[in-house]
Amino acid sequence: MAEVTFQKVSKTFSGKVIAVDEFDLHLEDGEFLVLVGPSGCGKTTLLRMLAGLETVTSGQISIGGKVVNDLDPGDRDVSMVFQNYALFPHLSVFDNMAFGLRARRFDKKEVIRRVHNVADRLGLSDRLKRKPAALSGGQCQRVALGRAIARKPKVYLMDEPLSNLDAQLRLAMRKELAVLRKELGVTTLFVTHDQAEALTLGDRICVMQEGRIQQVGTPEETYDRPANRFVAGFLGNPPMNFIEGILKEESDGLCFSFANQRIPFSRNVLPKSLDLGRGSMTTLGIRPERLLVGVDSEVEPAFSLEVELEHREWHGDHALLHLKGSFGSLVAKTSTAEGEGAEEGKSFRVEAALANCHFFGGPDQRNLLLASS
Ligand code: ATP
Repeated sequence: MAEVTFQKVSKTFSGKVIAVDEFDLHLEDGEFLVLVGPSGCGKTTLLRMLAGLETVTSGQISIGGKVVNDLDPGDRDVSMVFQNYALFPHLSVFDNMAFGLRARRFDKKEVIRRVHNVADRLGLSDRLKRKPAALSGGQCQRVALGRAIARKPKVYLMDEPLSNLDAQLRLAMRKELAVLRKELGVTTLFVTHDQAEALTLGDRICVMQEGRIQQVGTPEETYDRPANRFVAGFLGNPPMNFIEGILKEESDGLCFSFANQRIPFSRNVLPKSLDLGRGSMTTLGIRPERLLVGVDSEVEPAFSLEVELEHREWHGDHALLHLKGSFGSLVAKTSTAEGEGAEEGKSFRVEAALANCHFFGGPDQRNLLLASS
């Protein structure tokens, strides 16, 4: 086990494509950190640089306090699990899982002990003689995990290991991985573009966009206190609703105005240092599950909006209401009972409490509630 540190790590391909830009991150010993972001944001490049499969253009990577920039992949003591499993098709499950141990010249008895132990843990004991072609996708991914686990390296690197599985299997494997990681306690960098995987698996999440870190924090921090509009929109399904408006200072406090609506609130809500000038373009964000539909809220609502139901999606355990109003569109996530009251084409009101409103502004659309005071 080991700590992992990225210090100002950058990667430029062909002298012009900046895949990773001055990336600073420290993983504690035993931490499970999820790197999440849209396609092309640099996740795989980072993982490959840590594994030694890609060179670093500038900056430093250390594992267990030792700089590894110039170390060969085999000398870094990391194990990788890939999206496409990368199993040897001609080898049995046993031999696939034993491969790394044999390559490192482990004693024969120790190889057998470790492989049987891992196979037991992953429910593969009765499949050890089979070849990968005779396994399901979920079983193949378990073999790939088993191969990594049997080695007990300093660090696990997982590159979208669940994304080839169908939805049900992915859910089952997610749970298995969550249980396993607690048992193993090995430092892990897990790459995914799936925000649900990030929120459910990570001790911390690092959200990336265009090669840069947008926010690093626990799942709760990144979901409840997103650093900027990008993070707010990326984490959460359905994503956060956004309404554009003007935020300005008035004699008795602050006011956010949009489409003939005004939300007055205390000046104390936002940091004192925030200079709004004569009013600045701001985005109001509200999560779909925080919009109240036809409920007598106990909290004084920040606003109450007239909306019309465009479409109602029934999901069995909840409903999604696609709403439109003079300000644009919103999605509300409600219980099926609340959702039933809404009829297509009919107007009604939705509300939200101020505590559930986020405000994003400035050139980088940062969360104004978190701006340093
Ligand atoms: P995905 O989720 O689609 O795998 P990602 O976040 O892992 O995406 P990377 O594969 O790390 O992103 O790619 C980051 C950027 O670097 C992209 O713009 C990609 O096109 C570019 N890139 C990656 N590898 C190379 C390469 N070998 N040569 C040139 N550009 C590359």
